[in-house]
Amino acid sequence: MVSRVIPVDSFDLVIFGGTGDLARRKILPGLFRRFRSGQMPEDARIIGAARAEMDDEGYRQLIADAVEEFGGEEKADAEGLKQFLGRLHYVPIDAKGDGGWPELAALMRDGVIRAFYFSVGPSLFGDLAERLHTHSIADEQSRIVVEKPFGRDLASAQQLNADLAAHFGEHQIYRIDHYLGKETVQNLMAVRFGNVLFEPLWNSHYVDHIQITVAETVGVGGRGSYYDQSGAMRDMVQNHLMQLLCLIAMEPPAQYDADRVRDEKLKVIRALQPLQPHQVVRGQYDAAGGDPSYRDDVENPRSHTESFIALKTHIANWRWAGVPFYLRTGKRLKARTSEIAVVFKDLGHTIFEGDTARHRNILAIRLQPNEGMDLQVTIKEPGPGGMRLVDVPLDMTFADALGPDQEQVPDAYERLIMDVIRGNQTLFMRGDEVEAAWAWTDPIIAGWEARHDVPKTYDPDTQGPEDAMMLMHRDGRRWREIREEFKRRPGPATTVGSGIHDPEDDPVQPPVQQPRKAGE
Ligand code: NAD
Repeated sequence: MVSRVIPVDSFDLVIFGGTGDLARRKILPGLFRRFRSGQMPEDARIIGAARAEMDDEGYRQLIADAVEEFGGEEKADAEGLKQFLGRLHYVPIDAKGDGGWPELAALMRDGVIRAFYFSVGPSLFGDLAERLHTHSIADEQSRIVVEKPFGRDLASAQQLNADLAAHFGEHQIYRIDHYLGKETVQNLMAVRFGNVLFEPLWNSHYVDHIQITVAETVGVGGRGSYYDQSGAMRDMVQNHLMQLLCLIAMEPPAQYDADRVRDEKLKVIRALQPLQPHQVVRGQYDAAGGDPSYRDDVENPRSHTESFIALKTHIANWRWAGVPFYLRTGKRLKARTSEIAVVFKDLGHTIFEGDTARHRNILAIRLQPNEGMDLQVTIKEPGPGGMRLVDVPLDMTFADALGPDQEQVPDAYERLIMDVIRGNQTLFMRGDEVEAAWAWTDPIIAGWEARHDVPKTYDPDTQGPEDAMMLMHRDGRRWREIREEFKRRPGPATTVGSGIHDPEDDPVQPPVQQPRKAGE
């Protein structure tokens, strides 16, 4: 299957923070891939703007090195890279002063889309917005892209929204959440709203519960000082997991367009029941095998910041009444995997004599690795011996299903930047969504801070703290195992996992809790 590349209109894209880690690791290598795909028009330009003093040639060399270090197979295309680098320019700029702004203004062309990517810390968002306005660099058609974190609580998010709104309309502001740019996430909407099969079952009559997992194997090393001020709730749940929850739970929008989709997501966030302390488990990874603990990584021996969180929440509306949503995310876990699993209810009655297992259909949507979906269904185990049942996945890994051309499908950042140029805000967060999400997380965070709540320690390379297991076990359910492949292989008849906790067939043993060291 050949993916169609539709060229975008010509643009000048200014990347503030164009020398930074995000620009070098994701944004520029991604833009090079879009260039190679033919999606960038001949005369489109990318202008790096950052503190460092350098000229166009210096910037081109910096980005050539970045593509070499962080790019994929595209870096073998030396001729393409040379042409791409020819599209790059650079302006040294002072976000808080006047230096560089007249030069940037002089460089911008009329008659093309002007987009400005704020790949800098949020403390500079207001300064950049103001200077784009006062130096008449931005016009009514211009777009700005802002990176996470969008605030650290409701008050700071409101302030950022106000700072941007002073100079840009909401229709010009693209708050990026790269999870929304993932192919699978968009496929979630295609599957729900493009098939007759699923939507009738997508409610409390048929769904037992929903699990959302984003597990990482890496620790916080390298970004410890930022992370220790943030924690898993602010860094992951308030934005990425919340966005996934919204897409899975929202009502069908009347149309697939930016405001209708975002209206429906906002309703979900507003319908979330307030979190109670007993519905949340916080964890911090311990040291193991010579690897540092969380506290070593952040160089703060008394840190109470969580590197893991598991929680249970409910959405107070008719569709989801009584259906728990379990969310978890953490660092230094067993595998790097992300998935959403919709676990359907048991059959009310079985006609197969001797079949005692609780078979459940599970729709698992994998974000990584191997973006794709599988639907666990119950079938007859092949061969003689009567009607023995087995649960197997109907697997659709996109790379397999859609063929080798799938390699050319843009990654999340590339797709989202092209959406900015196209003026499509559907996969970006609106200001009121972000504020509503903070309004939900603020009280629970404030509670931890007031109580000096101490996270549970967990061993690296495990499923997280034992209490997280208990959060589901108490409800007679269990987490799906975090492992390299979420794909379930056919197991022996009638013993494949069902989503219901059954100690006999539970491959996920809670890790042994390590006592905290004396004096902590
Ligand atoms: P970085 O520290 O590597 O780079 C910061 C950039 O901002 C540099 O180019 C620097 O020159 C520029 N800058 C800083 N102060 C400036 C000033 N006063 N005037 C002009 N330019 C100035 O940061 P990063 O890791 O690239 O992150 C950028 C933003 O993206 C941050 O908000 C970060 O939270 C967010 N983000 C980063 C990642 C990542 O993987 N690095 C992932 C998600 C979000």
